[in-house]
This record gives sequence, C-alpha cells and structure tokens, in this order.
Amino acid sequence: MSESLTYLDYAATAPLRPEVAEAMAAVLAEPLGNPTGSHPAAQRARRLLEEARDDVADALGRPPADIVFTSGGTESANLAVLGPLEAARLAGREETVVLSSAVEHPAVREACRAAAAFGADARELPVDHAGVLDLDALVRALSSRITLVAVMTANNETGVLQPVREVAEAVHQRAPHAVVFTDAVQAAPFVDLRDACAGADLVSVSAHKVGGPVGTGALAVGSAVHLAARQHGGGQERERRSGTQDVVGAVGLAAALAATAAERDGATAVAERRDRLAAGLLDALPEAQRTVPAGVDVLPGHLHLCIAGVEREELLVSLGAHGLCVSGGSSCASGALEPSPVLAAMGVPADLAGGAIRFSLGARTSDEDIERALHIVPDAVAALRVRA
Ligand code: PLP
Repeated sequence: MSESLTYLDYAATAPLRPEVAEAMAAVLAEPLGNPTGSHPAAQRARRLLEEARDDVADALGRPPADIVFTSGGTESANLAVLGPLEAARLAGREETVVLSSAVEHPAVREACRAAAAFGADARELPVDHAGVLDLDALVRALSSRITLVAVMTANNETGVLQPVREVAEAVHQRAPHAVVFTDAVQAAPFVDLRDACAGADLVSVSAHKVGGPVGTGALAVGSAVHLAARQHGGGQERERRSGTQDVVGAVGLAAALAATAAERDGATAVAERRDRLAAGLLDALPEAQRTVPAGVDVLPGHLHLCIAGVEREELLVSLGAHGLCVSGGSSCASGALEPSPVLAAMGVPADLAGGAIRFSLGARTSDEDIERALHIVPDAVAALRVRA
C-alpha cells in the first residue's frame, strides 16, 4: 500500500499479504501442469491443489471432499443458491422455495431473483433495526416446501453477525428438504468459521477478503447436499464445477486463510482501533451516528456511520482526494452508489442512508491510519458544509 494512502476499505478488498504473494510465486517458479494430467508437472499441480484443498477444508472445519474451488464469492453464491434448486427440479420436485435474509450481498440476492425467474418461489426474510435476522419470521416461514435458506454469516455493509447456528438448527428441525447456505465472505477475516458456520450445509469464502488474490474462492458443499453443476465441461471438482482448476489461486486462498487464522488473536486490537475511530468521529461530527445500535455483535473491523446532511458520493471523492480510502458500503459494478437495500431493510430513513459511509479495518491497520482518518474526515465534512 502506498505510504500516502490511508486504506480503511478492507471489506471491499484486503491488500495482498506478502506471505501469500510468496507462496504463489513459489508455485509459479517451476513448471505447473494441468492437475488432470499424468506427467510430473501435472502431478505437482495435483499435489499442490489437494494440499490447498486440505488447508481450506481445515479452515472451514469440513472434510476436503466438501471443498469446491471457484472464481470467488459471487460464483460460490450462485452455485450455492442455484445448484440445489436445479437439483430439486431435476429430481422432479415441482415446488421449490428459497428463503433469504433481506440483507444478503447482491451475489446472493440476485441469485435468488434469478431462481425466481426459473420458477422457484423466492422470499425475503425481515431483519430488525440492527439488521439481525428475525428468527421468529424464519420459523413461521419454514415448511416441507422449502428447498434452500440463505443467511449470511456477517453483513458486508454493517458487519453485523447473523445467528447462523440457530438458523441451521431451526431449518433442519422444521424443513426436512431444505439446505442452509451461509455466505461467509465477510466473516472470514475475523470469525472462526469452523464454529460460526457449524450446521450450515453450504459455506462460501473469497480469497481477496482475507489477503489472498482476487478471482479465487471456495464453496464447501456438505455430503448430503444434492447440487447440480452450474458450469458444465470436464467434470472437475467432482462434477460440481467444471474447468481447469486455478492451482495458484487455490494455493493463495489456502495461504491467506492460514495467515488469517494465525492472527485471529489480534481481533481485539482491531476492535479497539475501530472504537477509537468511532469515538473520535462521533465527537467531532455531532451530525453523525452509528448505524448499528450498541450491544449488537459486529465484526471488529467494521464501522458504519450515517452522517446527516452529507452526500456520501461527494464525501467519498473528497476523502479520496486526501488519500483516505473508504467506501459507501453498497455500489454497483460501475462504482455508482445505489440506495442500500440493507439500510432500507433495517428501516434507516433514505435521507440518512444518503450519508452512509463504511470504514473497514484489517489486521494491518495502524494507529497512524486512525489518526490520519480522524484528521481528514471532520475537515472534509466541514468543507462540504461550507460549499453547500
Ligand atoms: N459476499 C459478500 C458478503 C461480499 O462482501 C462479497 C464481496 O464484496 C461477495 C460475496 C462477492 O465476492 P467476490 O468479490 O469474490 O465475487
């Protein structure tokens, strides 16, 4: 990261870890064949791929056979949502119903909408004002008609953690044909997924959120899940995801997850820095408020604020001009900021949501980063007010 930049946008993408870059470079330093081949270079590729699979399985607390390597969190979510629905359809089940929380990442939300276009009944489950799933509403919605329930482990905008274990328990008790998918892409940097996602049938992760390369991820698929492939071809990944595997990416994902697990004790220090940033900003900006109420479980790196009377697009441009990299939390592929469905589901008024801003810290965020942000943000907000 450049010296002149203050990077507080880890939830968008985390800088590549040097040890991950080294592990990937070592793989590329010698001939690497196609893992399906039989000569020594292919055998090397297969060995590296299977070692990476073992390590990813270990990080997720699953058997290696469950792990499907993908191109990232979006592909994993699409496979997790559409794969079981397609399998149910192929098995002759006429009625397929998918339930998802109203605060899912677009990768899940849009996959559920696509399922609806294929004839599945897609319904959203409400959250409370903190963005936590309404478990009673889930229980009321469960029946033998449900095929899939998708509830993320932690929200990408607010960092709010969801009760995934309770969700899985309720679903498995009351909806005998349903599988539970949890998108753990945001939680992976801080949460031990072996525990938090226990009970979920499908779990997705993405390498670039944990300091690995962009374009690599994995989906853990429990052995009891009937999953139809979304991508057809050579039958790699046990017929669940065809295409020559990205061995270098898989090694990067495994190394990044291992490095993340090794520094998990540092989460308290990250939360302390985040809280110092929150206290300083709330003190300097009386018009700002924390979007998530106190006492709610939030990832240690996330700070979501709504600043009344501020246009977030203007503020982000101004902060960027001062070298501070943060985000508005929800944007589409063009980078344009959209009204956040997550904040709408939490009942945040639209005018307040217009001033929403997400700071996200990582293990390598320093005290100096926090000091610089505390210096830059109040000045930028004041300058915007003068212009207005
Ligand atoms: N799910 C969540 C919760 C995310 O935050 C993201 C990325 O922002 C994704 C899925 C998509 O992951 P990827 O960028 O690897 O496609």
